[in-house]
Amino acid sequence: MTFEELGLESSLLEALHYMGFEKATPIQEQAIPLILEKKDLLACAQTGTGKTAAFILPVLNKLAAKPSTHINTLVIAPTRELALQIDQQIQAFAYFVNATSCSIYGGGDGSDFETQKRALTSGTEIIVATPGKLISHLNMGYSDFSQLEHLILDEADRMLDMGFFEDIMKIVGFLPKKRQTLMFSATMPPKIRTLAKSILIDPGEISIAISKPAEGVLQAAYLAYDSQKAALIRSLIQDKPNYSSILIFTSTKKKVGEVVRSLSGNGYQVKAVSSDFDQKDREEAVRKFRSQETRVLVATDVLSRGIDIKDIDLVINYDVPNDAEDYVHRVGRTGRADTTGVALTIINPADMYKFSRIESLIGKEVPKLPMPKELGEGPEWSDKQSGHRGGRGGGRGGNFRGSGGGNQRGGGRGGNYQGRGGGKPRSKNHGSDRNSTNRHK
Ligand code: AMP
Repeated sequence: MTFEELGLESSLLEALHYMGFEKATPIQEQAIPLILEKKDLLACAQTGTGKTAAFILPVLNKLAAKPSTHINTLVIAPTRELALQIDQQIQAFAYFVNATSCSIYGGGDGSDFETQKRALTSGTEIIVATPGKLISHLNMGYSDFSQLEHLILDEADRMLDMGFFEDIMKIVGFLPKKRQTLMFSATMPPKIRTLAKSILIDPGEISIAISKPAEGVLQAAYLAYDSQKAALIRSLIQDKPNYSSILIFTSTKKKVGEVVRSLSGNGYQVKAVSSDFDQKDREEAVRKFRSQETRVLVATDVLSRGIDIKDIDLVINYDVPNDAEDYVHRVGRTGRADTTGVALTIINPADMYKFSRIESLIGKEVPKLPMPKELGEGPEWSDKQSGHRGGRGGGRGGNFRGSGGGNQRGGGRGGNYQGRGGGKPRSKNHGSDRNSTNRHK
């Protein structure tokens, strides 16, 4: 569906054209009409689905038709990174409709406090805030939300995981009862339903299903410190002489360089792909990998979507991608069509919470394997934000035989994995293939 068909104002259509958004994503197609009809909304959608534009566009559409001189919209987000990201996306669109926005979060040196206060008292139309910092301002008594029309909660499940339920309820107490409330959450646990019952009225409900890795892909993970990662990668590759195509993903260009240096310094034939390379060099690297002239390719997420290279035996995630969609896309590079593949993720302590969120999104616990003995012990699994605790590698999910086997079997929860020691993945049919303050005018 096009944005014209959704009935958006011409100034926003111009903005969308300028930003290269041609078609509405499924969440936008479903959410925008409901929001324009002034209905409350409960939406289950992950990062990467286009959910931010799904709530920003209809709000800006209303502001374009009826400008406001008061705070019109409050967006609450769990982290300052997300608040900033949302504000940046608002800025990109708001330029065309002449609306103002301001992001409010903590962690600055305090010099931004006055700017934030001004935004809250002088009628900035859209405020994007983290709960704690907003409450500090609300407690001072000068914020004026009396004309608020929209309250939007983004990543509501994450806010509850972080213990923000009371804060959210407190903020809601400062807002007019007559308002439109939109809640976005990546998952729908019972506590989200409870929150929805207390702040939404007769909401429309939308659920955007997340894609999942194909059944044939054997997924496992290692818990490792950063200092162990390079040696672990070498050990994983060394243990699998029969794997002729190995794709390693990292989330940054810098890490691509680190992995390439570490492997080529140890005699491995390896090529790299990231946005640092010319298109020509990238195509050459992919061509050599595709024809199996190059055994190991290291890439950023530039390669994780869309590319179809046959017979990739092993995908290694050098780090945990930022969102589940990227994980699914990375892992989906192996086990395509009729082959079974293996996907291994290396998780450092900082990435554990992120990985547990990916597990809950794909609806599966990924077995944690013990580190190879010669590399020493890895960190313990610790998912502080959701309170989950397990043992060291191997403590959750399937069993692992460290060497000698050759074929993988099983797969999901409770499956066995005989992953090291040589055998190529067996062919198998499987189901689906598959600041602190910004102000602008
Ligand atoms: P989000 O799920 O809101 O984090 O959005 C993920 C990414 O998709 C962002 O980089 C957006 O700019 C982009 N995006 C959102 N909607 C569209 C669209 N309709 N067409 C193309 N890109 C989009």
